[in-house]
Amino acid sequence: MDVVVIGAGLSGLTAAVTLQGKGADVQVLEAGPQIGGRIRALRDPDSGQVLADLGPTWVWPKYQPVAARWLQKLGVETFEQFNDGNAVITGYGPSPLHQPLPGQDGMVRPVGGPTALIDALSRELGSDRVRTSSTVTGIIEDGSDRIAVQLASGEVITARRVILSIPSRVAATTLHLPWAPPSLTEAMRQTPTWMSTTAKAVAVYDRPFWRDSGLSGRIASRYGPLVEAHDHSGIAGSPAAIFGFVGWSLEQRQNDPDGLRQAILTQLADCLGEAAGDPVSLKIEDWAINKHIVTDLDLSQPPHHPDVGPNLLRQPYLGGRLRFAVSEVALRSPGLIEGAFDIGEAVAAAMTLTNS
Ligand SMILES: Cc1cc2nc3c(=O)[nH]c(=O)nc-3n(C[C@H](O)[C@H](O)[C@H](O)COP(=O)(O)OP(=O)(O)OC[C@H]3O[C@@H](n4cnc5c(N)ncnc54)[C@H](O)[C@@H]3O)c2cc1C
Repeated sequence: MDVVVIGAGLSGLTAAVTLQGKGADVQVLEAGPQIGGRIRALRDPDSGQVLADLGPTWVWPKYQPVAARWLQKLGVETFEQFNDGNAVITGYGPSPLHQPLPGQDGMVRPVGGPTALIDALSRELGSDRVRTSSTVTGIIEDGSDRIAVQLASGEVITARRVILSIPSRVAATTLHLPWAPPSLTEAMRQTPTWMSTTAKAVAVYDRPFWRDSGLSGRIASRYGPLVEAHDHSGIAGSPAAIFGFVGWSLEQRQNDPDGLRQAILTQLADCLGEAAGDPVSLKIEDWAINKHIVTDLDLSQPPHHPDVGPNLLRQPYLGGRLRFAVSEVALRSPGLIEGAFDIGEAVAAAMTLTNS
């Protein structure tokens, strides 16, 4: 084995495909039962069709050259975020306001959602190159020219190179890294994982009926439980959906899941019309309970948009044989899809496959 990539999110898969393109024998190890990391979709249980994104939704290829290039390379088209008509704004006056809210310049959605990127990378890599349900617990330098990667199952896989593509705080708090100096571990602990404390709700409908009454599907609310919601329908309005970010704390979400569902349905009906309270399905994805993504450190601090992470995370370790590649480590758009493509590609390009 030339290279083990730990973590099958967008960064890890981008690194793996890039290395394979350089002729490397690559194995990706993923702790979860599925690949994609923070990129995940709600799918139709029968057809497998993507109904909605449970992780990221948007890219800005006009301002994100690396994402623009990979979208093209992977053959994934984009379309405009629907934003025609009035938003419903609550909590800023005695009664709800109905008025347009401007969208973001250049903000578009991949056709099929960001999981289309994961599916395309996985096809390019070959399914035999990725092992799911394979949690790494340690990375050891064993004195030979190989690095030992320890799995929770007790198995040890050796490789000439390792790319660590998991959230930095998860690595700092769950992996045995005896070679890592305290300054590096501290840099990892100081790097929050973008959106890791978020819960996202998706309501799927037969059709985007709110558009008929001049509503954009956008909600901005000081009361919640959805503090921000958007039309999340596919191209030409199908499949029809609304997604929103949940404003309740993790404790509230966990203590009263039924109350949360009911409060979301009531809010949707109040804002978008009675039919919005009766979706075909309502799914709430709580990233704050995914131990492969979030840590107690993230949960104990208020989330903020990621800064460029510490330089120590962009240095090679173990004599140039180990590098970090997770979105938050990128210099360009850290924490975002652009950052994941950028760091995955850059780390793979910087990695020499022969010993000097
Ligand atoms: C709700 C939400 C909304 C978002 N919205 C946007 C958006 O609109 N636009 C945008 O650009 N970005 C958005 N983001 C951020 C975007 O999803 C991330 O930047 C990107 O997916 C990060 O990819 P990654 O590969 O770097 O990390 P991750 O996706 O976190 O991948 C890390 C992988 O490592 C695995 N792993 C962890 N521990 C181990 C272990 N011990 N052994 C093996 N594997 C392990 C994890 O299971 C995971 O699969 C959003 C994120 C969320 C959660």
